[in-house]
Amino acid sequence: MDAKELIHKYNVPGPRYTSYPTVPFWKKNAFKPNEWLSEFKKAFILYPNSSIGLYIHLPFCESLCTFCGCHKRITKNHSVESPYIDALIEEWKLYLQHLPKEPVISELHFGGGTPTFFDPTELLRLLKGIFQVETMDPKQCDLSFEAHPNSTSKEHLQALFNFGFRRVSFGIQDYDPKVQQAIHRVQSFDEIKAVHEQSKHIGYTSINHDLVYGLPHQNVLGFEKTIDHTLLLKPERIALYGYAHVPWIKGTGQRGYDDKDLPKEHEKRALYEMACEKLIQHGYQAIGMDHFALPTDNLSRAFSSKKLHRNFMGYTTQTTKFLIGLGMSAISDCWTGFAQNEKTVEAYQAQIARGELAIFRGHVLTELELEIRSYILDIMCHFETSFRTDSRFIDTHEFIKSKLAPLVADGLVSIQDSTVTVTETGYPFVRNICMAFDLDLHHYHGNKPLFSATI
Ligand code: SF4
Repeated sequence: MDAKELIHKYNVPGPRYTSYPTVPFWKKNAFKPNEWLSEFKKAFILYPNSSIGLYIHLPFCESLCTFCGCHKRITKNHSVESPYIDALIEEWKLYLQHLPKEPVISELHFGGGTPTFFDPTELLRLLKGIFQVETMDPKQCDLSFEAHPNSTSKEHLQALFNFGFRRVSFGIQDYDPKVQQAIHRVQSFDEIKAVHEQSKHIGYTSINHDLVYGLPHQNVLGFEKTIDHTLLLKPERIALYGYAHVPWIKGTGQRGYDDKDLPKEHEKRALYEMACEKLIQHGYQAIGMDHFALPTDNLSRAFSSKKLHRNFMGYTTQTTKFLIGLGMSAISDCWTGFAQNEKTVEAYQAQIARGELAIFRGHVLTELELEIRSYILDIMCHFETSFRTDSRFIDTHEFIKSKLAPLVADGLVSIQDSTVTVTETGYPFVRNICMAFDLDLHHYHGNKPLFSATI
């Protein structure tokens, strides 16, 4: 089967596997905060030496980008900042009250929305509420934030750097003005260059650029210019995401253009392949499913030493069992369970004001799900996994091997004894390979795709 046929065959809706089970298959639609806390405490005792990651969702944006799939609130009214920061600090205190001991935070990420919507003084107030200190040692905690080039000031960059941040991620997507207009996110190369160079000058050691392929009006020639512009700035990391076109889930925000404006399946793949080839030629290492990093960056080192980890924040260099998500819609993970916060600002703040965590749904993993979770994590991070020989679920291993058989026949994976290895041909199909392990998916009989296309 040639590359085009493989793409056609495997371009089916599939999860991105930031968790297993994936969110649509979580069993607890009315997860009570005390149920979640008791699961979290149990895990905290089970894994006493694990530090935690902290994800803080800052949902406000001044204008809507029409390709956006994030949980956000569009507003130009900045009076929303202060009450939201108050709620985040209160939420953190609720966790501290219930945990048997104060957790060690090894990683913190501000995501959004647009974290740089907030005034630097509000962001610092939040950080002091979390850490109770004026600065953090960057060697003790990996601090990072997402930044919109249009709203990132020198004050933001300097204040967060002074606190201990060394990583910043800029949302670029594409430099082509026609594409930028279609997605309603206009930002020139000169503006991005200025904020990128300012970050370097201040001392940030790891700058990420998010690029997106599969957007309306993109073609190989235009996207190649975007890659060339990116290479001029040479960020340490690049995330190259496929645009997730799921208007049936995300509603009207994604309907600012017609389906006919989107590159077709093989054109979309050509965009990825061109970008991938070019980045590798220019010294980047391909990491996991959709990341690239210079060999000197920690992400590359973690990948090469098989220490790469994946959670709701995506790929990370910190292997923690716990992720606490603070803020509207944020997801927490205690390895044996997941929980998600209320998805509107009002519901989230109201629940915190009542003195309770704002959990509204979640899932507690069974023994089998925990095992499958570790296989999927291995495949996503290391392109390889081995079935446990001491497992109680040997029959399930056989079932998964039967689901992998067509992928073996197509040359995407090889199976040697109990070890499953993704071949180089299989790298772009890593989500499809994980789907063979996904027991929920094999029992799913709905008629509407829950996920965006894998390619
Ligand atoms: S892409 Fe980012 S800035 Fe744009 S609407 Fe979505 S969250 Fe806001």
